[in-house]
Amino acid sequence: MKIFKDKKILINETFDIKNIGFIPTMGALHNGHISLINEAKKKTNKILVSIYVNPTQFKSKIDFKKYPRSLKKDIKILKKIKVNYLYIPSTEDIYTFKPKSKIYLDGFSKTLCGKFRPSHFKGVINIINRLLDIIKPKFIYLGMKDFQQLTLIRSHIVKNRIKTKLIPCQTIRDKNGIALSSRNAKLNKKQLRVAQKIYKFIKNNKKTILKKILQKKRFEISKNIIKFGADKIDYIECVNLERKQICTNIKDKFNVFIAYYIKNIRLIDNL
Ligand code: AMP
Repeated sequence: MKIFKDKKILINETFDIKNIGFIPTMGALHNGHISLINEAKKKTNKILVSIYVNPTQFKSKIDFKKYPRSLKKDIKILKKIKVNYLYIPSTEDIYTFKPKSKIYLDGFSKTLCGKFRPSHFKGVINIINRLLDIIKPKFIYLGMKDFQQLTLIRSHIVKNRIKTKLIPCQTIRDKNGIALSSRNAKLNKKQLRVAQKIYKFIKNNKKTILKKILQKKRFEISKNIIKFGADKIDYIECVNLERKQICTNIKDKFNVFIAYYIKNIRLIDNL
């Protein structure tokens, strides 16, 4: 595996490779990330992973500092599964050039996570735009766990006519149903059980959740989730994935989207 820390060297070595499958990550790798890499392997034998904890998408400096990091272990994992290239940019490397495309944020950026973390998606699209400009991959692999992020990246790509195909990948869960996340590493056993109860509750009560929300009785749902041990809920919403809209009709097809805190650990999921 070739490791790049300098975009000029990366560009020099990869500019004539036309079939790069790209997996952007913030590291602290888990089986969710690995499933994206395995998806990429189905389409190409040139796989590039990036690891960069992007400061501009965090709400606070403390949250950024506390984000789990395990670079040595990550490199070992990526070597073992035979990833071809790893890009670990410095902030200077990634932020000191002018990308060709302008950041495009569609209206969907204002709801869900965007409502509670106002500059988050601008930070996400900015970094992805820069990475796409440098790497020019044929495919980019993104997880459905971060559905809002995936959707906004897709509309940025379409709007700017960027020639990278986005491949959505399903959410990988642990045996108790909890969506794998780098932040799970911060949860102790008791807190993992809280996350598990919340997952089970949502999975088994999707229709009821939508009904209660439409009847303006969301507080009943929130009360349950707090009872399981969540400390705060940013939002719980039912969203139609095709229309990218909050459901207004009981007959809608939807996923329940949630962002909540256990202590100061923020978790998101949709199912
Ligand atoms: P992150 O390192 O959290 O920024 O995630 C990098 C990529 O991995 C994003 O496209 C995520 O949506 C995806 N991802 C994170 N967790 C999972 C999961 N449990 N299953 C599938 N993909 C995931």
